[in-house]
This record gives sequence, structure tokens and C-alpha cells, in this order.
Amino acid sequence: MRRPFVPFLFLSVAVAAVLAAACSRPSTPPDILLVTIDTLRADHCSAYGYPIETTPVLAALAAAGTRYSTAYAVSATTAPSHASLMAGSSFRTLGVFKNGQRLPPQAVTVAEVLSASGYATAAFVSSFPVRSRFGFAQGFEFFEDKFTIQNSSVGRRSAPVAHDRFAGSTFAKLQAWLGQRRDTRPLFVWVHFVDPHFPYRAPEKFAARWPAGVAPDVRKYDAEVHYADKQLGRVIEAFDKHAGGGGALVIVTSDHGEGLGDHGWLSHGINLYEEAVRVPLVMRWSGRVDAGKVVTEPVSLIDVAPTILEAARVTQAPPSFEGLSLLGKLDPDRAIFMQRRAYQGKELQDTDVRGEMTALVRGGAKYILAPEENRREFYQLPSDPHEAHNLLAPPAPARDVAAQHGDAQHGDAQPPAQSPAVAAARRHDEELAAWREAHPESAGDDAPLDKEDVRALRSLGYVD
Ligand SMILES: [Zn+2]
Repeated sequence: MRRPFVPFLFLSVAVAAVLAAACSRPSTPPDILLVTIDTLRADHCSAYGYPIETTPVLAALAAAGTRYSTAYAVSATTAPSHASLMAGSSFRTLGVFKNGQRLPPQAVTVAEVLSASGYATAAFVSSFPVRSRFGFAQGFEFFEDKFTIQNSSVGRRSAPVAHDRFAGSTFAKLQAWLGQRRDTRPLFVWVHFVDPHFPYRAPEKFAARWPAGVAPDVRKYDAEVHYADKQLGRVIEAFDKHAGGGGALVIVTSDHGEGLGDHGWLSHGINLYEEAVRVPLVMRWSGRVDAGKVVTEPVSLIDVAPTILEAARVTQAPPSFEGLSLLGKLDPDRAIFMQRRAYQGKELQDTDVRGEMTALVRGGAKYILAPEENRREFYQLPSDPHEAHNLLAPPAPARDVAAQHGDAQHGDAQPPAQSPAVAAARRHDEELAAWREAHPESAGDDAPLDKEDVRALRSLGYVD
């Protein structure tokens, strides 16, 4: 049962105390650039070992900084994931479960804390679900989310109205803004690209030169990734030129991955398999984070906000922040939690999508639970990185039929009694229950949606 929105009622006093402490520090904190490349799954980045060179810029950034090899989104949906990233906490407590819901004004975002700590703040976003009307402008003095049909992959020319924009257009807005800036305050900029998101419409020169022999959808997706990476290079170059002088903290990540058919789904949002939730996370901060280092401890997007605050010398994060600073010591056995929103019951791609799905990863073991879909799945990721062998499902010839549809992991059969996987699953059931209890759901804040808004959500693949 959802509870009224309460976690932030007492935060204003606490945040004021945090900010007073932050503002009293004498030296200048670093300029900070945060880039989220929407729908970028880690294993399709050459910076993460993908055999086609999709992300040379991200690889160069990783060589100059630190790459987190085991980073997870909290959700596989844009708005909840970005809400968790910006507010440093579970979207359950924020009440943002799906696109079209608002990040509530009571939430404390990293941009708000930085702004109150003396930072200039600006954001340049590229897609409908993270527009200012959905609460994502909180804490930003300047927020650029005006899309034009000429620079959009999703929209209606007859209206005309656009629901997203190409990364090159978003970069141009950033470049113009940086060029005219005369502010001497430290700077926090968030840039959001959406290009790898469906529909895959990379500019022709990228799509045309992409290797043949790769499945068409994958080829188009990879071309989008390559295009976004190219624009990422322009963003970092412009930021280093106009702010930070190469000493800025730069963080690049994504809000979720993309199915590409790996478990029967082309897109994202429906499940919590690795391709949907494993994201790249790279941090460059010259002289402060190790160059060329690969961190294998599992981390979550809720860790980004406290990392930024520590870098900005905000000595105490808001009490609503749940993550850990990546600048501190990390625990290899930490549990990372994920969740999919609850569905009332929906037939999608011949599959009944119903109820809530949660998952946790600990020490390389991954457990996925969706009770209303009768799914319990347990994987050992080091030996089974593609989650092909559900250790809670006994081998059964009849399942070959389901396997042909990429759907072999549905946990509707009884697992072998007394197996280690069953014992582990029982423990993870308890952990998930404790996590749910510790993070009570807040009521979602549905923004009023008109016909065009519904069209926008549908055009991006989000249908209720
Ligand atoms: Zn997204």
C-alpha cells in the first residue's frame, strides 16, 4: 500500500544546516559535468569491451579517469532512473514510478544542494520524460528543454511538435550557453542525450558506415551509440575549454540499457536483466581519481549524487540520500537493489506483464522476483553473464519451446529442493522484503497529460 509523501517533510531544516556547513569552506570547489546518455547498455560500449568501436570518447575518458565495471541503474525506465540519480534515493520513496510522473518538489536534488552551496547550475536535456514540467529542473538556474521538429527524431511535422532532439542540437545549445557565460561561480552542468533510445535514427553518415553482418536493429542501435559518443567528445571539449580547464569533475553514465532481443525484448522498462540495468559509469577528475583504474565493486546510480556533493565539498549529504560516495571505500559484497514499476496486468509481446518486479545483486549473484508473474530467477553472473541459466528452474525438455522465444527463465517450475540456489533465493526474499519495508512507496504525482503528451509517451514506446 502506498503511503502519503512524507520522507521530505523535515528536510528543509536539515538541508539548511548542510548548506551552512558547505558555504563556510574557503577554497573553490571544482566545476562538475554530469552526462547521461539515455538507453546506453554497458556491454555495447567499446569502453566496456564491446568488439566494435562504439565509444572511443568514453574509452579515452576512462583512460584518463576511473571506470566502474559493475554499475547499475535503479530502474530500466527514464524518469524513475533519472529521479533516483538526481535525488540520490530510490524512486519508491520519491514516488516516480513511470514516465509522465513528476519528481515531487519536496525531493532534494543534487542540483538544489549545489545551487544553494554557491554553484551556478545549468541543464540541457533531450527527451520528453525529463522536461522541466516533470520536476527535473529543480535546482537548475538554467534549463534547456525546447525541442524543434527540425532536430528531432520523434514528433509530428503537421503540428509541428517535437518530443526529443538529437545530441548535436543539444550540444549546440550547451556550446552557445558556455560561450556567453561570464559567471565566476563554480559550475554544475547536466547534459542528457537520448539518441540510443528507440527509434534508432542516427544521422545518415553514422548509420551508413556501420559494419554489415550485425543484426539490423543492433547495427542501428550501435550507430546511435557511436553518434552519441561523438557528441560526448564535443561536450567534454567545450566544457574543458570554458570551465574547469581540464580539472573539472566529469561523470558519464546512463539511465538504463536496452534489450535488443537478448531476453525476447527489444526495448527496456519491462525487465531487470543485465542488458536493461547494467550501465556505463566513468569518472574523470584529474589528480583526484586514479587514471586508467577499473573499479569492480558494484555501484548504483544513487551513488552519483553523494559523489558529486563530496567533490563539491558539501560535508554532509541530505538525509534523503541513500547512496555512497564513489570517492570513498566501496564494499564488494554490497547489495544493489533494482525495481520495475507495478503493472495492473498487460499483454506485451505475447507476455503477461503483471505486478511489481524487484531484483538484487550481491557478490556476483543476482536474484529477480516478480511474484504476480510467477517468476523467481537466480543467476551467478561471473559464470553466466547473459543470465541464460536460471538456477531456480529445473531442466525440462518442454522449456525448449519457450527458449526459442528468448523466454526460458520464467520461474514457473519448481526448483530443485535443497539446492544452494533455493537457499540463496530464500535469503534474498528476506533482503528484498526488508528493503521494501525500509523504502516505503510514496504516492506518485501524475502530471496532467494532454493528448500530445500521450502521443509523446507512445511515440517513445511507453504505453499504459
Ligand atoms: Zn531512458
